[in-house]
Amino acid sequence: MKIAVLGTGIVGRTLAGGLSDRGHAVTMGTRDVAETLARSETDAMGNQPFAQWHAGHSNVQLVAFDEATPTADLVINATSGQASLAALEAGASGLDDKVLVDVANPLDFSHGMPPTLSVANTDSLAEQIQQKFPRSKVVKALNTMNARLMVEPSRLPESHNVFIAGDDDAAKKTVRDLLQELGWKDENIVDVGGIQAARGLEMYLPLWLSLMGKLGTPDFNIRLVRA
Ligand code: NAP
Repeated sequence: MKIAVLGTGIVGRTLAGGLSDRGHAVTMGTRDVAETLARSETDAMGNQPFAQWHAGHSNVQLVAFDEATPTADLVINATSGQASLAALEAGASGLDDKVLVDVANPLDFSHGMPPTLSVANTDSLAEQIQQKFPRSKVVKALNTMNARLMVEPSRLPESHNVFIAGDDDAAKKTVRDLLQELGWKDENIVDVGGIQAARGLEMYLPLWLSLMGKLGTPDFNIRLVRA
């Protein structure tokens, strides 16, 4: 499949690398290709400059947002939650009738730590994206875990879950298949409903952040246990 990953942070890199390793033709989108490649500092989380990562993943093409989406069969939003609508607007010409996997969280760091959610309770970032791009088929997925787990769920010794939410059943089937390629067992992929269910997936983030602080590692996830 031709996949456009919008976002050059750790999530975009991890998904682009993981999908490319599994044989997909992956294009990454950024605001300004030259500027992104020229960065020489590690980011706030200690991730290496993009060009260093890209040197080991030269089969992944880096283009501007608006060039990434038109040729893609499927688009992944892995941009900062505060910037996702703008980033997708830049790539809007290639979103119609496409599955749009939204991995972003609407975290607002402008008031310091811990971040707050810029949208919650009665709305979600995924719903805002679906509303703004009504011809795309938005599926919320993978936002409830650390990037490395997204493409390597076997990092954890026991079974654990990934959630999907969206209004289009065929789009959710496509995402379910893609998740299985990434190593997720079908029984561990939980469909929580329509796109409105993304509210709960995004509102989990404050708990995820507290757990990471307490556990001292991002390598953990939710496991559903039922009667
Ligand atoms: P990030 O730092 O949250 O986002 C980086 C991306 O956002 C870059 O591609 C950047 O564009 C773009 N961006 C930033 N400001 C922009 C603006 N004003 N206009 C357009 N684009 C802008 O990266 P991340 O840590 O990889 O996270 C990506 C998303 O996944 C976030 O929404 C995050 O909450 C979510 N998430 C993260 C994790 C994790 O493990 N870190 C796990 C689950 C979900 P350039 O390429 O031009 O710099």
